[in-house]
Amino acid sequence: MPARPVVDLHTHSSLSDGTELPAELMSAARTAGLDVVALTDHDTWDGWAEAADAVGRTGVALVRGAELSTSAGGVSVHLLSYLHDPAARGLNAAVARARDSRLGRARRMVDRIAMDFDLTWEEVEARLEPGGTVGRPHIADALVDRGYVTDRSAAFLEILHTGGPYYVRYDAPDVVEAVELVRRAGGVPVMAHPRAATRGRVVADHVIEEMTAAGLAGLEVDHRDHDEGARAQLRDLAASLGLFVTGSSDYHGAGKPNRLGEHVTDPAVLEQIESEGYLPVVRP
Ligand code: AMP
Ligand code: FE
Ligand code: FE
Ligand code: ZN
Repeated sequence: MPARPVVDLHTHSSLSDGTELPAELMSAARTAGLDVVALTDHDTWDGWAEAADAVGRTGVALVRGAELSTSAGGVSVHLLSYLHDPAARGLNAAVARARDSRLGRARRMVDRIAMDFDLTWEEVEARLEPGGTVGRPHIADALVDRGYVTDRSAAFLEILHTGGPYYVRYDAPDVVEAVELVRRAGGVPVMAHPRAATRGRVVADHVIEEMTAAGLAGLEVDHRDHDEGARAQLRDLAASLGLFVTGSSDYHGAGKPNRLGEHVTDPAVLEQIESEGYLPVVRP
């Protein structure tokens, strides 16, 4: 490991809405010059084993994580969990419920879309990996394949956005409960892109204060969905609440323009995460 390792703490594989299998993601991480990468698929850790198997071959260390779907009074909040016990009952139950709800919701969205477009559930289902999590990006890709839109971003803008006629919500645990579940599972909870306003509504500072009281460890500050003003404000908030800050790419393979390592995390913060987490970092 170099004196100052390059650490990217937020990426997706095709177990959720990335486009590469975990082993391919690890190879891409090596090509991008990363020393440490976190695999943080939405609501699943079924990709961990394959990613861990690729650590020796690629020389890239792996932080086993996930990005949990949660809700703060109806506002969608993404909560990163690092190094939790994958067998923890409470966390598994919450994640299984969110995955189930996402499945029913995706089918209902496709039903609605099918009233105006030629699209079947089978086309979306064919894109899912076993143990994986379905999301709007899978519907977006099916619409791209059909030629209705040019890419995922256009699909979100024109068809899948939260205010549109095809949007359906899904059930997710309350964000404060989710922070507690992550801590009880030995995980280290970090709020993902807290000010990513382009995706929809974001939570007020008092929600972040409540999350902190429940055990939140950090805020993801350096992320492409935050402008300079948002980053400065989040850095101040983190300092005042005693939270650490992270930076990450939120890489989705070919599904988004985000490039591996475009934002990185201070190695000292990774050390703190590992010291608080139940699992170790998988090292070459
Ligand atoms: P869902 O969780 O099913 O509601 O879908 C939200 C996911 O879609 C997020 O986690 C992002 O990965 C992805 N996403 C959101 N907005 C966009 C966009 N404009 N272009 C591409 N992907 C997006
Ligand atoms: Fe995503
Ligand atoms: Fe996210
Ligand atoms: Zn993400």
